[in-house]
Amino acid sequence: MEKKRNILMFVLDQLAWRALDIHGGFAHAPNIGRLASEGIDIDECYCPYPLCQPSRASFWTGRYSHRNRVWSNGRKWKITEIGEDFPTIGSVFSENGYNAVHFGKKHDGGALRGFWCDEEKEKKIPDEDPAFPFNMDTYADAYTVDRSVDFLSSYRFDKPLLMVVDLINPHNICGWIGKNRGVHEDVPFDGELPELPPNYRFDDICNRPVPVQYLCCSHVRQSQTVGWTDDNFRHYLAAYSYYLKVADSHIGRVLDALERSGAKDDTLIVLFSDHGDNITSRQSVTKQVTLYEEVVRVPLIFSGCGVGRKGVRLSGPTSLLDLFPTLCSYASIPMPDGLDGMDISRVLAGGDLPEREYVESEWFTEWGYTISPGRMIRSGRWKYMRYLEGDGEELYDLAEDPYEMRNLAGLDGYSAELEKMRALLAKHLETTGDPFLSLQWKASPKWRSHKIGYQCHCGISAPEDPEEQ
Ligand code: ZN
Repeated sequence: MEKKRNILMFVLDQLAWRALDIHGGFAHAPNIGRLASEGIDIDECYCPYPLCQPSRASFWTGRYSHRNRVWSNGRKWKITEIGEDFPTIGSVFSENGYNAVHFGKKHDGGALRGFWCDEEKEKKIPDEDPAFPFNMDTYADAYTVDRSVDFLSSYRFDKPLLMVVDLINPHNICGWIGKNRGVHEDVPFDGELPELPPNYRFDDICNRPVPVQYLCCSHVRQSQTVGWTDDNFRHYLAAYSYYLKVADSHIGRVLDALERSGAKDDTLIVLFSDHGDNITSRQSVTKQVTLYEEVVRVPLIFSGCGVGRKGVRLSGPTSLLDLFPTLCSYASIPMPDGLDGMDISRVLAGGDLPEREYVESEWFTEWGYTISPGRMIRSGRWKYMRYLEGDGEELYDLAEDPYEMRNLAGLDGYSAELEKMRALLAKHLETTGDPFLSLQWKASPKWRSHKIGYQCHCGISAPEDPEEQ
C-alpha cells in the first residue's frame, strides 16, 4: 500500500496578499518567501468572508458562509455552531486514517470538529521594541509555536499526520491601534517607515456604497484612527510588518522542527491566511464591511512533498474553499458531497489552475450592531460588489485598476460589463441557494449622519454604543 503523505498547514490571521515583499509589498517574511520559492505561490486566492470566524468556518467545512450560516464573529448576532451534517477537513481526514491535530487559534464556529485540538493558552513574553508592544495575540502564538515544536519532536509518524499551526499574527496590529488611537505621537523605532500605497487617498469615496462610506461608524478600529497623520498610517504599516515578522519566525521554528523529525520529505506544506488587512488603502485599517483586494485576497502557498515545481507563481481566481477538495484529492481520500470549492490539486504536479467562471466572497456583520449584507463576484479581469443598503454597487476592471480607485458601476460605457456581472451574481444566488436578496440590512441613522469621509467621524462607533447593546 502506498505510504500516506503528511500535511502541515500554517494558518495566519489577517495577512494581506499585497503586504508581502514577494508580492511587491512592504513586509519582509523570509520563511514565507522560502516556502514560495520552493513551491507554488497562488496569486489570486480569495477568502470566502473577510472576517475570522466566518472565513474559518467556511474553509474548514468547504462551504459558503450562507450555507453553514456562520455569519459573524458572534456577540449580538449569535451563531449556531456547525453540526454533524457538515463534514469538516478534520472529520474526513481523521475518519480516513490521519492523525488530525490542531495547535493555536480556533475561532471556528465548530468547524474544527474531527481535529484533536490543543488548548488555547498564552505564554507571556517581554516586548522587544517599545514601538511594537505585544498583546494576547502574540502571547498565544508564543505558546502555539512551543507546543507545535514539542509535538513534532516526539511524534513517531506511525500514522500519517495532518497538522495545523494556527497563528494569530499579524493580528496584534488591532491591539496596536488601540494603543495609538486618535491624535498621537508615534514611538520611534530603528528602521525605515514603509511608503503608503497608491490607493491611500480615497478620492472616490462619494461613489461608493453607503456601508463603505460609513465604515468608520461600524468599525471600532477605524474610528480609532480619526486624527491620524500620514506618518501615523506609515507607522501602522511598520507595526504590521513587525508583527508579521514575529509570525514568520514562528513558521521558521516549526519548519526546523519538521526537518529534525525526518518527515520533511514526506510532508506537503500549505500556508494561507484567513483574510487580509486594509494596510492603509483608502486610509483604512484592519478589516470590516468592504470586499476590496486588500482584505479578501490572501496568500496561498504549496510546498514540499508532491509539489513538482519550484518558485512558480500561478494566476487565476482561486478560493480558500478549494482547500478541502484539494487536500482530499492529494491524500486520496473520497471527497464529501456538496463542497463549494474546486479541486486544484493538479497544480501540484505541474498542471494549470482549472477554468472557473467566478469566485465569490460575502459580508454580513462583525458583531451584529450594524448589518451590511454584501457580495463580491470576481470573474476574469472584472470584480463586482453589491450591498443591500442603498442598493450600492461597485465594478472594477482589475487589469486597468488593480487598486480599485475608480468605481465604474455608475459611469457611462460600462453597462454591458455591469449587466454581465449582475447576471453572474444572480446565477450564483440561485445555484447555491444564497438568501442574500432577502436579508435585512440594519444601521441606525445616527451612524449615517456625518459628512462623508473617515476622518470626519467623531466619537465612538456602533459596537461601543450603550444604546446598541
Ligand atoms: Zn463614521
